[in-house]
Amino acid sequence: MKGPVKIKELLPSERIRSFEEVALGYSEEGAQEEAKRCLQCKEPKCIQGCPVGIDIKKFIFEITQRDYKSAYLTIREKNNFPAICGRVCPAEYQCRKFCILNRNKDKPFASPEAINIHFLERFIGDWGIKNYQNLTFKIQNSKFKEKVAIVGSGPAGLCCAGELARQGVKVVVFEALHQLGGVLRYGIPPFRLPRPILDFEINYLKSMGVEFITNFIVGKTKPLSELEKDFSAIFLGLGAGTPSFLGIKGENLGNIYLANEFLTRINLMSAFKFPQFHTPINIGEKVVVIGGGNTAMDAARSSLRVQLGQGLKPDTTVIYRRTEVEMPARRLEIEHAKEEGVNFEFLVQPVEFIGDERGFVKKIRALKCKLGKPDSSGRRKPFPIEGSEFEIEADVVIIAIGLKANRVLTSATPQIQLDKSGDILVNPETMETSLKKVYAGGDIVGGEGTVISAMATAKKASQSILNLLSL
Ligand code: FAD
Ligand code: SF4
Repeated sequence: MKGPVKIKELLPSERIRSFEEVALGYSEEGAQEEAKRCLQCKEPKCIQGCPVGIDIKKFIFEITQRDYKSAYLTIREKNNFPAICGRVCPAEYQCRKFCILNRNKDKPFASPEAINIHFLERFIGDWGIKNYQNLTFKIQNSKFKEKVAIVGSGPAGLCCAGELARQGVKVVVFEALHQLGGVLRYGIPPFRLPRPILDFEINYLKSMGVEFITNFIVGKTKPLSELEKDFSAIFLGLGAGTPSFLGIKGENLGNIYLANEFLTRINLMSAFKFPQFHTPINIGEKVVVIGGGNTAMDAARSSLRVQLGQGLKPDTTVIYRRTEVEMPARRLEIEHAKEEGVNFEFLVQPVEFIGDERGFVKKIRALKCKLGKPDSSGRRKPFPIEGSEFEIEADVVIIAIGLKANRVLTSATPQIQLDKSGDILVNPETMETSLKKVYAGGDIVGGEGTVISAMATAKKASQSILNLLSL
């Protein structure tokens, strides 16, 4: 049997000079070859691994028939944004892990032999973008007079808006920031998700009649209770925008960024083009990123590009307290980061930041770690080794160790019940919160913290809203 078909990519030496997309996807022939590797299993396990249950076997078969329109419609039945998910889904932890061809039985992610389902989805998503004018999606004639408000324009909010608009419901999306898309806009860099792809999906929603209001913070610009008067139902897709701190000495020294701020400056405020754009960014000669997830990879790869853009020799190191196997980042991002020259130091835990006389970070005091038994996350727990202390030089540090619930709305609305970590408590069947006719989905209700899982909960909420409106 033939091996997996690789996608085209920009060369590492070219790609670190810009924020252009790195992974260029399949050509038609590449997609054909990869689709033909699929065994069309009688009981396709891959579908179980997809949080929204796309009929993977069917769309891959339709690709082999060069029936791309059917493949597009098959995916769109379950997933509103195939070109986005085809680029960012951690498929190796989801559908590909369940693929019969996966040989990694003892690792948390799939081996390269598993069908490249995400690249095929991307191929079809991009085909849809090029050809959508010729496709007619059924938008129901409105039988609903009621309006629904959506708070937050991340993947959860956008997905819920799309599901409702398709059924002819009038939807208004309120977004706190001046631009739409949530993390897809301010977190994930354009070298992974080009902005025209996101803009296409948002413009498509606009063409379906969805109204977007930006610079509107529900809970501050207006309380939720005001929206409750004007709308028959409300969906909260507030995301997890609050960064976590390490809680160690020296964390408030100068030039220590939280990854969210670092990435927002670059992605939303174009800080890498300062002074052409107003927002500056301090980059150093030795940048250290702390963490092992997608945010850490995005921060490290962005850092290299900014260093080069400012005439510095790229020198960015990721430190992580477990090993590469336990890193939760997408495997492709780890591979790309390495190819681009990001250094990695594993089994390292920072214990203190040391500053210079001006109050800027100059070193990190750290301990070496060893791995113990798996913890509640299923990953082996790191333990610091006594007496293993050492120092790492760093003039910029980026902390990327996780995000927590965005509390702006919920702290202004104490009637909404939260769990211990500040996530909104919902009825898992309906996604309704403790407030009647107010639903929630995406990162604000906890869960896996992926784009596709945010969309899965938003879809469930949209169905409950449709049931409510049909009563
Ligand atoms: P968000 O995308 O956070 O959107 C929430 C939106 O709500 C924001 O725009 C916010 O401004 C708005 N908002 C909040 N409160 C209010 C209010 N009171 N009023 C009005 N608006 C409000 N997942 C993947 O699957 N693959 C990846 O490769 C990946 N990479 C990532 C990289 C980074 C840097 C980060 C931070 C996350 C990444 N994730 C990835 C996770 C993924 O992006 C999130 O799980 C997903 O965006 C959650 O969607 P959401 O709609 O719930 O929230
Ligand atoms: Fe194809 Fe793998 Fe799904 Fe089988 S499990 S149908 S080989 S993608």
